[in-house]
Amino acid sequence: MNRFVAYNMPKIDLHCHLDGSMSPAVTGRLLKELGEEYGPKELEALLSAPADCGSLAEYLERFDLPIRCLQTKEGLKAAAFDLASAAASEHVVYLEVRFAPSFSVSRGLSVEEVIDSVESGLFAAREQTGIRTGIIVCGMRHLDMETNLAMLAAARELYGCGVVACDMAGDERAFPNAGYGEFFAAAKRLGMPFTIHAGECGSRESIRDAVAFGASRIGHGIAMGGDKELIRMCAEQKIGVEMCPTSNLQTKAVGDFSCYPFTEFYEAGVPLSVNTDNRTVSGTCSTDEFMRLSDNGMMNERISERIFRESVEMSFADPDTKHRLMTEYNNLFVI
Ligand SMILES: [Zn+2]
Repeated sequence: MNRFVAYNMPKIDLHCHLDGSMSPAVTGRLLKELGEEYGPKELEALLSAPADCGSLAEYLERFDLPIRCLQTKEGLKAAAFDLASAAASEHVVYLEVRFAPSFSVSRGLSVEEVIDSVESGLFAAREQTGIRTGIIVCGMRHLDMETNLAMLAAARELYGCGVVACDMAGDERAFPNAGYGEFFAAAKRLGMPFTIHAGECGSRESIRDAVAFGASRIGHGIAMGGDKELIRMCAEQKIGVEMCPTSNLQTKAVGDFSCYPFTEFYEAGVPLSVNTDNRTVSGTCSTDEFMRLSDNGMMNERISERIFRESVEMSFADPDTKHRLMTEYNNLFVI
């Protein structure tokens, strides 16, 4: 696959964090409004993970500045608009944006206002570019359960009005999935589907726990590599894996890209999607992710077609949106 094809083909991004995907331009502008000024080089260094990033914990430090910008309605709207517009400009046709509403309440916004503001930015991008979007709200591992459950209950009020699902994010090694059964039991009770960051830098047990909780999808799932039984279980139960190649290299989820388990999962029939995770922190875009796989012999046009179809299927979009995405995709190939 060459870059022209990867750039022009319709793509879907199901795993993209708002705070990790704010462009330096928008972040710089919003920080300036807060009275903080940074030079372009300084800002870039503060927002992107170095190639030799030591760990997931070090990677997560890159989110500090963006989160300072996400405390007002204007900041949240601008960030969401910026992200969805950037994705649309490289032919991402459906984008699920995730973020932790509890991180944006330090200057008085309510969880509902936070989500509403993001949705208004996404709406503006939809109007302007035609991209379709959904919001995944993230609980955070290091926050107390009460805070995470209160966020979930508030987000439930906006389920179907922008919000499509929930997730649990943060440092998985320090806070394994086993401790979050209560959060996902509440999501089930509230009728919200969920994906869970699992097996990014954590263990296979973390993935088994996510499946046992009833996750529809797994974020990353790298630790599943080499575990035939677990891979078969995901394939049989149609549990989609959201793969984020560049991020997985940076956080040392895989040491060497030749060990990246994409083909192993693909050939076993696990539904897969190819995602950016954090466009700015990882210095990537959807096109780059397909090219990284292609450059390593893991992607071609035939595989990308299956990835598109599986991404639609595993997405949290409503049935009508799924139908439209597939119809538009199929129409591209009608001669
Ligand atoms: Zn993630």
